[in-house]
Amino acid sequence: MDMKPRTLFNVEGLTAVVTGGATGIGFAYAEAMADNGAHVTLLDVDADALDRAVAALAARGATARAVVVDVTDSPALESAIAGTAAESGRLDVVFANAGITAGPGFLNVDGERDPAGAIENVPAELWDRVVATNLTSVFATIRSSVPHMKARRCGRIIVTTSIAGLRPSAVVGIPYMIAKAAASHLVRQAALELAAFGVCVNAIAPGPFLTRITTPGLRAIWEKALPVRRVATTDELQGLALFLASPASAYVTGALFVIDGGSMLGRAD
Ligand code: NAD
Repeated sequence: MDMKPRTLFNVEGLTAVVTGGATGIGFAYAEAMADNGAHVTLLDVDADALDRAVAALAARGATARAVVVDVTDSPALESAIAGTAAESGRLDVVFANAGITAGPGFLNVDGERDPAGAIENVPAELWDRVVATNLTSVFATIRSSVPHMKARRCGRIIVTTSIAGLRPSAVVGIPYMIAKAAASHLVRQAALELAAFGVCVNAIAPGPFLTRITTPGLRAIWEKALPVRRVATTDELQGLALFLASPASAYVTGALFVIDGGSMLGRAD
């Protein structure tokens, strides 16, 4: 293969879907795909943010489709993905990215016990909503994408998990921790099954990135404790997203890429 970057990282003409693509990390993935010539469909529950995202991509010279869909509505999600595949005649890259936070952890940002985050006080409704959004929707996204990818014996599925799924944390709500851990294992299990069909499934596990889910309190903790002493901006995920969507990663499947400014190494304060 030609080892020039334009060949290794070529996503031109591919059809890419991004769930939770209207803002934050999902929008950064969409930019990385669109700027490199992929046709992007953004799926998101936030109609206004979707309008802004499509306009922003158009201003960069890209064309993008948007579908308002709640990823916890599996039939609606399936139909949005099938609609994209039908319109394009292909489905190459899917980012299962939509996610929400899950309330407080058992310690607050000052290191004191927070009764609202204590395991016995976590509302069942919160657990159900977070698992539905951060885990079940990932399964539904993969399930809905696979038939279109198997048919052409190629495809890339990239799941946004989190370092929260890799080790416990005192300051993050327990439903989020567990949903992200399960999503990480879902990536490995799906990768094992789908490898024979040319479909690669990988995870991006971000540490702290500045998006609308980043609370000021968490930001302060992170900036103090992180080895790199700063929270990342979402453009810093774009190179990895492009790698995982492109020919450069053809032999990579079932892998989880931590991108966290050294956070998993331990505190450095
Ligand atoms: P964000 O809130 O900016 O983006 C999330 C997007 O998902 C939003 O556009 C939102 O409207 C959409 N969304 C939420 N629920 C939805 C639903 N039910 N159906 C459809 N769309 C829905 O937050 P973000 O930080 O960009 O989060 C993206 C992913 O990255 C999430 O899975 C999150 O858990 C993960 N993550 C973020 C960080 C971080 O530091 N920001 C760290 C690790 C993992």
